[in-house]
Amino acid sequence: MTTIGILGGGQLARMLALAAYPLGFKIKCCDPVKNTCAYDVADVSLIAWDNSQQIKSFIDSVDVITFETENVPVDFLKTVLVGKPHFPSLDALKIAQDRLFEKQLFAELNIKTAPYFVVNDEKDLKQGIEKIGFPCVLKTRRFGYDGKGQAILRHAEDAKNSWSDFMGKACLLEGFVAFDGECSLIAARDRQNHIVFYPLAHNRHEQGILIESRAPWDHGVLNIKAQACMTGLLQKLDYVGVCTIEFFYCGDELIVNEMAPRVHNSGHWSIEGALTSQFANHIRAITDLPLGDTAPIGHSYMYNGISKMPDKKQILNISGAYYHDYAKVPRPGRKIGHITLNASTGSQLEEKIAALLLHIPD
Ligand code: AMP
Repeated sequence: MTTIGILGGGQLARMLALAAYPLGFKIKCCDPVKNTCAYDVADVSLIAWDNSQQIKSFIDSVDVITFETENVPVDFLKTVLVGKPHFPSLDALKIAQDRLFEKQLFAELNIKTAPYFVVNDEKDLKQGIEKIGFPCVLKTRRFGYDGKGQAILRHAEDAKNSWSDFMGKACLLEGFVAFDGECSLIAARDRQNHIVFYPLAHNRHEQGILIESRAPWDHGVLNIKAQACMTGLLQKLDYVGVCTIEFFYCGDELIVNEMAPRVHNSGHWSIEGALTSQFANHIRAITDLPLGDTAPIGHSYMYNGISKMPDKKQILNISGAYYHDYAKVPRPGRKIGHITLNASTGSQLEEKIAALLLHIPD
């Protein structure tokens, strides 16, 4: 039996495990934090990812390695993963863990991003603001997620406060994109360079956290442009597995915000809303199985439970509603579950969304 090892034991690992079991795979995870939510469904070891002995014995106990997060010690792992199949490559993770490397890669691929300025000290910040102007967004280059490690700067006072909040970390100053909306594209590539694309998801964030996604978002022009960006990226990185690109759009123009070298929150709808979920396709890609059909099953909506979830009974009274509880301890700003609604038509979906929103706690 093939055993898949996942670095990370959070909800993405949990959903990867649930997609791997029907194919007969065994899943082992490792995470430096105790009792993460994959503990309920997989064999999870408590391991510091840079602990040579522990990580080596974890790697020896599995057949193939994959990652729930890009924030792993890439240079160290390169030394211990020699000879062990691992997907995607550590080079892809290295790029995705640093916003500057990502922007440089997209520039190489001729893909538009927000204008940016590298900020290492207060002098850079001042120069960056002079060049980019207000409003702008200061982001730490590394370890930013769900709105953490970023701040919108509207005037000089914000700049001063944010710089001290970020405690002098290496940052990027980005131009504020006055977008019409946000969307994301998820794709999977296998070892033979077959690529399958999910339909575009239309996303809404609040304070940097994804709140809801609708898919398929039927925008022919943006879909073609997004697929072209994705194809360039996957081929450049010789990527294997599921990959995500998040975009801003202004009219028919796409601007890349960032990439995620993994399954993504904006693709959770695909568990019930596509013929093959993003999780199943990632497992297939890394185990050298044929990729599955990504066609949508009707229309889907995903609502993220941030620090609280609506009542299970009330939600499950809505037909076509699927409730995912990650069994996490609620904390402010923490994703603890999601709900997917599925309907045959767009108007039926809107009715179900209205019913769901009645039950969202304040
Ligand atoms: P990020 O952590 O880069 O994925 O950003 C999270 C969210 O913050 C995005 O999905 C946007 O809603 C918002 N955001 C980030 N960067 C910008 C920007 N340069 N201009 C406007 N909004 C932004």
